[in-house]
Amino acid sequence: MNQNYDYEVIVIGGGHSGCEAALAASRMGCRTLILNHNLDNTALMPCNPAIGGPAKGNLVRELDAMGGEQARAADSSTLHLRWLNTSKGYAVRTLRAQCDLRDYGAHYTRALSEVPNLYVYQGMASELATDSGRVSGVLTVAGEAFRAARVVLASGTYMRGKVHMGLVSFPSGPLGQVPSGALSDSLVKAGLELARFRTDTTPRICRNSVDWESLELQQSDPEPEAFSHWSPKRTYTGHCCARTRTSVLTHDILKAALGRSPLATREIGVKGPRYCPSLDDKILKFPDKESHPIFLEPVGRNSREIYMQNFSTYMPPDVQLEIIHTLPGCAHALMLRPGYGIEYDYVIPTQLEPWLETRAVRGLYCSGQICGTSGYEEAASLGFMAGVNAALSLQGREPLVLGRDQAYVGVLIDDLTSRGTDEPYRMLPSRCEHRLVMRHDNADRRLCGIGRELGLIDDDRWSAMTARWSEADSEKNRLSSVRIQPDDRTNDLLREIGSAEIEEPVSALDLLRRPEVSWRTLSKLVDTGLGDESGAWIEIEVKYEGYVRRENRHVRRLSSMDKLKIPEDLSYSAVGGLSAEASDKLTGTMPRTLGQASRIPGVNNADIQLIQIAIERLRRSGHEYAGDVG
Ligand SMILES: Cc1cc2nc3c(=O)[nH]c(=O)nc-3n(C[C@H](O)[C@H](O)[C@H](O)COP(=O)(O)OP(=O)(O)OC[C@H]3O[C@@H](n4cnc5c(N)ncnc54)[C@H](O)[C@@H]3O)c2cc1C
Repeated sequence: MNQNYDYEVIVIGGGHSGCEAALAASRMGCRTLILNHNLDNTALMPCNPAIGGPAKGNLVRELDAMGGEQARAADSSTLHLRWLNTSKGYAVRTLRAQCDLRDYGAHYTRALSEVPNLYVYQGMASELATDSGRVSGVLTVAGEAFRAARVVLASGTYMRGKVHMGLVSFPSGPLGQVPSGALSDSLVKAGLELARFRTDTTPRICRNSVDWESLELQQSDPEPEAFSHWSPKRTYTGHCCARTRTSVLTHDILKAALGRSPLATREIGVKGPRYCPSLDDKILKFPDKESHPIFLEPVGRNSREIYMQNFSTYMPPDVQLEIIHTLPGCAHALMLRPGYGIEYDYVIPTQLEPWLETRAVRGLYCSGQICGTSGYEEAASLGFMAGVNAALSLQGREPLVLGRDQAYVGVLIDDLTSRGTDEPYRMLPSRCEHRLVMRHDNADRRLCGIGRELGLIDDDRWSAMTARWSEADSEKNRLSSVRIQPDDRTNDLLREIGSAEIEEPVSALDLLRRPEVSWRTLSKLVDTGLGDESGAWIEIEVKYEGYVRRENRHVRRLSSMDKLKIPEDLSYSAVGGLSAEASDKLTGTMPRTLGQASRIPGVNNADIQLIQIAIERLRRSGHEYAGDVG
């Protein structure tokens, strides 16, 4: 691509979110610039280089099904891979990969360089250019002016970043990067409201200084696996994680040093992630707890650095070293990087439309940690959705808004834009009310068609996927008519797995419905050429058929509210009977549908009924109103 100053889409930030936004927009045909103030930090993982886990793994699979890059970045850099939650059944299990920090970033760098209409440039954005309430470009600290009608802001934890180590603090981005200051002022000037959050990370210790033999080691799963629907499945050896724990001694040292933690002295007043608390937080909130598990995890195949999961702290480096030495296996550990906390600006996400465009500045989209989230997976998913929506709006097409019953990213965006968040938002299974229909194993069936329509799933991938579906569908059909005979072989196997013997022939699918009978067990009784992935899908489909049917009925009931559009010009102050709180919240959030309005905290059922009546009145008065969505 030629170097120039005119683009259709500009993405500010080369993190997880910025990379996905730029890839999506450019692959959808838009001339795109990705502006990053340091090209060497592309898709940098400033915390643990791990991808996936509960709910986050679902985000990665969904993104992959729609044509995003993160699953492939994880597959190309995995060192260690495990299924989590396996004891709770196939329907809720989730993959987690420990990745090589450098390989992961290198994958994104390569992917960005391969799209012909995507230009990657090193520069620090300092100002948004706007024209009559619309974005028109980006200015850099070096005085360059780039023009574009759509801008995606994905500047992460860098805006007015301030690092804390003990009672010392200084302006900084994460992991020693340069913070970004001027852009915050420009956003405020443009009418956006910003607030501050904090997050933290752990010290890194030297691999060679850990006594691995004294620790409980955790190997990768022996079965081949992959995040992406299209990557070859692999097993991983040569890297392992290990478990150690804090003790009463660790906690005593921490308690004695609390006066040196900026959390205890309230030097930092802003909120951090509740679901991933620092050691300082744990000691302050649960002083009686005697031990916390800590996981030692590699950060790269050629790196000596070991990440200490669950050990993030704001303590000064000397205290960090002292507490590290209290952990089994770490008595002589060398600290390579001290842990730290960082506070930063974010854009209050209720100012965003459900397609991530800001209401204050049209054409400006926000994605990633800048919207108040935490996590690489949340950031990448939001980036993809922002990039897609920027491209769709340029093409004059309807925005892509996924429902809470369609995708985890739909839940993520609805939570952020309807309810906002008072702490860095992390995706959790419990946030998703339709978990049974939104599983790891069916992300492709839910979302691949959308990726195809967007033009992000090419012919090869689409035909591989549709062939896989039809093979699994016909095998499921066939198995309903295959009869399993009550012979010795069958009953021996059933006894072995603790399942009741059969006395009459039963269909293979009925046998699979039994909780003790897995796809693997069935494969010993029936000849089936189907792979484990499609097999797992059939197993889940038949085992949970009843629950899924019930869930789908519930989804249909709820989605009628999500289909009822609220006219953009509805004045809440004129809706008689609305509480002042509801009226304020609704005016601030401007929900697009009745469903979205119902999820805003402070808006109750009576308020919803009043809005419904107001919409009905408008409709009867001949208001130009689109009615149901989609
Ligand atoms: C200390 C720390 C600990 C964390 N701990 C965890 C954790 O335990 N678990 C977890 O899931 N997540 C954690 N995270 C969060 C995770 O790192 C982020 O959620 C994720 O990196 C966000 O991705 P992003 O793309 O939104 O932003 P980032 O990864 O922060 O990327 C932002 C990008 O924007 C660029 N940029 C910024 N300003 C400008 C500008 N003005 N002009 C041009 N480019 C700019 C930067 O160079 C960078 O490339 C942690 C983050 C930090 C910093």
